[in-house]
Amino acid sequence: MPLLPEPLQRLITAFERLPGIGPKTASRLAFFLLKAPNTVSSELAEALKGLQLATGVCQTCFNITLVDRTQCDICADAQRDTGIICVVEDPMDVLAIERAGAFPGRYHVLHGALSPIEGIGPEDLRIHELELRVKGGLIKEVIIATNPSMEGDATALFIKKQLAPYTVRITRLARGLPVGGDLEYTDQTTILRALAGRQEME
Ligand SMILES: [Zn+2]
Repeated sequence: MPLLPEPLQRLITAFERLPGIGPKTASRLAFFLLKAPNTVSSELAEALKGLQLATGVCQTCFNITLVDRTQCDICADAQRDTGIICVVEDPMDVLAIERAGAFPGRYHVLHGALSPIEGIGPEDLRIHELELRVKGGLIKEVIIATNPSMEGDATALFIKKQLAPYTVRITRLARGLPVGGDLEYTDQTTILRALAGRQEME
């Protein structure tokens, strides 16, 4: 006999699949929703339903945007510098850099990093699309801001090789970032310092 009624157990199991949520937190959230006013759970349900239906990716930089838009707000912003691209692993990294508020250019979101162990190769990332943007000729600098991890470093090296035929400056964020630490968890001052101290890739 299960300890909990099926609908409650089902919600707990769903919460447990989320990153950073263990069995205890999952139970606490589920019991909270059980008692909370109806509006709390219906708003949550609506938001979850809309999340994937209403969002898509920007056709230029592959950042998250609304499903009916071809470009994200950053790419559509004429004030942003078109000559400089910051390459990141995830849309959350864009958010982290935007919050630091000192990057005038545009982004390119790879949606991951190279990882032979997880079977993630160049064709699984948006590297070819980055090359096409650089090939277009308007890009003067590509800042590679992949995470300071084995996968992030391997991805940076691969991109540098792919872009070698083009006349574009290729830089990597300075080593101020904690090793293994994701951009998305890095504080704004550290991000600003890493951007300002970016160096040519050897
Ligand atoms: Zn975009």
